Amino acid sequence: MRCKFCERPAFIKLHYPKMYLCEEHFKEYFERKVKRTIERYKLLRPDERILVVVSGGKDSAVTAYILKKLGYNIECLHINLGIGEYSEKSESYAKKQCEALGVPLHIVRVRELLGKGIGEVKTRRAVCSYCGLTKRYIFNKFAHDNGFNAVATGHNLDDEASFIFANLMNWNTQYLAKQGPLLPGEGKFVKKVKPLYELTEREVVAYALANGIKYMVEECPYARGATTLEYKAILNEMEEKRPGTKINFVKGFLRKKKLFEAELQEVELKECRICGMPAQGKKCSFCNFWGLEKPLEFNGRITPP
Ligand SMILES: [Zn+2]
Ligand SMILES: [Zn+2]
Repeated sequence: MRCKFCERPAFIKLHYPKMYLCEEHFKEYFERKVKRTIERYKLLRPDERILVVVSGGKDSAVTAYILKKLGYNIECLHINLGIGEYSEKSESYAKKQCEALGVPLHIVRVRELLGKGIGEVKTRRAVCSYCGLTKRYIFNKFAHDNGFNAVATGHNLDDEASFIFANLMNWNTQYLAKQGPLLPGEGKFVKKVKPLYELTEREVVAYALANGIKYMVEECPYARGATTLEYKAILNEMEEKRPGTKINFVKGFLRKKKLFEAELQEVELKECRICGMPAQGKKCSFCNFWGLEKPLEFNGRITPP
């Protein structure tokens, strides 16, 4: 098959809209889509300093690559979770990716910082749950302390669709009101953006391949068998039969998101007495979980490229 726009052989067949594209036209299509996402949802301004959270995986690597290509002022942050060999490998991929891009990479290692790695804490809380809490706190605090205007993450369309689907299946609708491509900054919460919001995982993989971006393929050992993967599989099956299922599901959700806002509980945020970040009680959930007595300080913790 040939490309829809030129004589070159097809590199990929897109299912929705249905078309064959050569490598060059696919890159163009992908970049245009990211640009449109940034404009449509007003994610970023040209003068902002952006911190891209890079895990070593494809989504965040592509996010950093494309924001840099579009001319944004980015630096990257890798959080080493302290999960044995998996984390060592992830860190080395993050380093290679940032070297190839020529952007500064900051590294925060959970075990060095907190004494234990993810998975080594004795707690009744699920590993993925406190891992998420820890990552979110660290990238927000790091961005806040070092004066970044936005934090960009690599969430793609499949991540978003499966998140919404899973939370609807369990009627955890309280999580849905704040879900979307943009979470505006507020006080000490730095703005969060997802530039790959409308691109499928398959498209992200193809874009990484087309640009020679190397990334970590292995999943986190704690994510194996996670139910999110089952929801993703179901959505992929539906997408196969009815192309456009995922994007229409997510866009429909954004139109109806107001319905879930009624579920937001009005909690008055105070300042954590340990770290000064927003907290519902006396301590924020991060300082509380890790039993901190003094705050983590990231101010000036900028590592050269
Ligand atoms: Zn072409
Ligand atoms: Zn705190």
